[in-house]
Amino acid sequence: MRDALLVIAWASGLVILAWIVLLLYVRRQLLVLWREPVMKYPILIIESDDWGAGPLIQAEALEQLRALLQKHSDDMGRPAVMTLGVILEVADTQAMAKHPGSYLGEDVRSPVYAGLRAVMERGVREGVFALQLHGQCHYWPSSLLAAASQAPVAAWLYGPPHPRSEELPSWLQARWTDASRLPSRPLPADAIAAATTKEAEFWRNAFGWVPDVAVPTTFVWTEAVESAWASAGIRCVVTPGRRYTRREADGNPGGVDKLIRNGQRGQGDILYVVRDAYFEPALGHVAHDLTAAVLRKWKARRPCLAEMHRYNFLDEENLQSSLRALDGALSSVLRAVPALRFLATEKLADAMRARDPELIEGAFVPRFKAWLVRIREIPRFRKLCLASGLAVPFALLERVL
Ligand SMILES: [Zn+2]
Repeated sequence: MRDALLVIAWASGLVILAWIVLLLYVRRQLLVLWREPVMKYPILIIESDDWGAGPLIQAEALEQLRALLQKHSDDMGRPAVMTLGVILEVADTQAMAKHPGSYLGEDVRSPVYAGLRAVMERGVREGVFALQLHGQCHYWPSSLLAAASQAPVAAWLYGPPHPRSEELPSWLQARWTDASRLPSRPLPADAIAAATTKEAEFWRNAFGWVPDVAVPTTFVWTEAVESAWASAGIRCVVTPGRRYTRREADGNPGGVDKLIRNGQRGQGDILYVVRDAYFEPALGHVAHDLTAAVLRKWKARRPCLAEMHRYNFLDEENLQSSLRALDGALSSVLRAVPALRFLATEKLADAMRARDPELIEGAFVPRFKAWLVRIREIPRFRKLCLASGLAVPFALLERVL
């Protein structure tokens, strides 16, 4: 009997030792997931990029979106919010055709964009739009000029007025890397500093205030860009959960130098948020996809930042079908998630920074429950928990709590 007890004690000791080794092995991820803010309510932010200098149909599209967002409100009476990632300038193709070899831009202060600026500002006043810096241009101008020997780039640069940046080769749409040749190369630090200062000045000139939030074009940016943004007054960067620093030989984003969680801090105390949900009606996403994304995020007590680009709304046919899809999706998600709250990304970032008890959970038990859900994401951890039996105490804890 005594021998049997000794064997059981030994075996239990070995199992517990294995659990300790396993937990120590993933301690960094466990800690990162513990520190990530835990939301008190399900949150939905529609994040829409590329608005600004470009096709003139945008003013009409935003007018219709403004009216649509007003129709949907959360149980606090706040309307649905769509952030607009704003591009301040696009190539002035008519002027460039007269002066080939020089880059000339047309910016949102031009009278042709007066209607667009007016609807953006009205939407901001009404609380349905929140403007975020997407970039002076959706490209690095000298990279574009250097690539102008390629026929599609030349056709874009010297073609019809108010061109769509979406029509450029995707690698050239990255602003913060020299993608004139692939793989792309880093830009000089002084050029980055000058460009970010210019962006901030332009923005202040166009809108009268400094943007809080930046969304890197194609999610390619570097430590130098982030540092320059922080100096220019940017306090939050929207990320896909990682930082890409270049475009690879095949044109795809690459050179990941950082994995990112909500609330994590970067250069100059910039706060990151993670946008990794998608609602692009033109790609076939339907109401169910948005509701599923909100519920998936809520399960781990995270906010849902759903990406929905301008390209869904750039011609009359797409505009109407995308508006219908968004309308239906907002109705569905409010029905399925009655506690849902709408919020602008800058407000979410402020709440994370201040650990605002109105939105961010501070109590141990709810935070621990969220952590138990989140740790399942650690690669191979779930399998190792099952194999070692550590899944049992975790499951018991989840049930008790
Ligand atoms: Zn973009």
